[in-house]
Amino acid sequence: MTRYSATELRHLDALGEFQSTRQDALTVECPRCEAPVDQLCVNTITGELLRAPAHPERIARFERKDVQA
Ligand SMILES: [Zn+2]
Repeated sequence: MTRYSATELRHLDALGEFQSTRQDALTVECPRCEAPVDQLCVNTITGELLRAPAHPERIARFERKDVQA
């Protein structure tokens, strides 16, 4: 049986938030890299998947979506 340290728990928390932010962002298109719904953001220069949940513009678009729709 494994016990998590406080630091590890905080890390897991951050990970959960990372993934839920990514899930939210995936419900809208990305204005920055033009990733369609359900597709992860890519780095517009290298074409690799972004190491962040999504581009900030995409997260902002999601957060405004509820208000506009
Ligand atoms: Zn993007």
